[in-house]
Amino acid sequence: MILIDGKKTSQDIKNEIASRVAEIKAEGGKVPHLAAVLVGNDGASQTYVGAKVKSCEEVGFVSTLVRLEADITEEELLKVVEDINTNPDIDGLIVQLPLPKHISVDKVTNKIKPEKDVDGFTPANVGRMTLNWPAYVAATPYGIVELLKRYQIETAGKHCVVIGRSHIVGSPMSILMARNGYPGNATVTLTHSKTQNLAEICRSADILIVAIGKPEFVTADMVKRGAVVIDVGIHRIEDASKKSGFRLIGDVKFDEVAEKAAAITPVPGGVGPMTIAALLYNTLQSAEKKVFG
Ligand code: NAD
Repeated sequence: MILIDGKKTSQDIKNEIASRVAEIKAEGGKVPHLAAVLVGNDGASQTYVGAKVKSCEEVGFVSTLVRLEADITEEELLKVVEDINTNPDIDGLIVQLPLPKHISVDKVTNKIKPEKDVDGFTPANVGRMTLNWPAYVAATPYGIVELLKRYQIETAGKHCVVIGRSHIVGSPMSILMARNGYPGNATVTLTHSKTQNLAEICRSADILIVAIGKPEFVTADMVKRGAVVIDVGIHRIEDASKKSGFRLIGDVKFDEVAEKAAAITPVPGGVGPMTIAALLYNTLQSAEKKVFG
């Protein structure tokens, strides 16, 4: 069984990005600049944004964190986004989700200039990705694609089952695995909450990508021997034996599934760190005008 090491792979990617930033600096070019907008005080969101800003520092990017009160109006937030859109020094813009209920995620997402949409959430980038044009691909699916590539996982002609159809993970993942290219050319089944016979469908998967958001949902009896299993889920569960008081688990029951799988991502240290590496990569692409020209 191959353990697909997202921690190491993400560090490799960060080192590659840092080398490129050093070259840009030496050439007197513009250092990539990522702006992150955080609304409110949600603990998990603060942790995620903090990790993104810290990673920017690690690779030599400039970063700006815009913190806004939870009671900011939608109009005011749209104005903040517009100001960043028109700021020529900023290459990439992310608005950390979730947003407070009184603000429309769709309106805010649609306000982001596609050229700076390094999260790949705008309709323009989702459309471009679907057409197999140069695009900012959403960070988590992009991170998974990069893992499959770097571990040389064969995908052509394979049956890939994706569990979950969210706009940020499952749905783009299914499009990427079906497209004509590598990784891709798989025969894809996208499953969701209305799917019947899920376990049976999973058992026919050569590649199983799990983004359901339910702790240890996928058990060994749902997995074919020799399958490649990618676990996107992240859940904190209490664990008194840990200093932090909790540990992280995924959507897959790791120990028993690992015994049957040919390759598997762990949680933590699998897909999670790749998401940040992908975001940094998209920001570098934006600074170098590689996607929209
Ligand atoms: P989501 O809650 O938006 O979507 C879950 C999906 O699962 C839905 O499309 C739903 O239809 C499907 N589903 C629910 N019950 C089902 C069932 N019984 N059978 C089949 N499908 C079912 O979740 P998400 O945002 O895609 O995230 C999924 C998980 O991945 C969460 O644990 C989240 O924390 C994690 N996540 C991790 C990263 C990362 O960087 N590693 C990034 C994003 C999300």
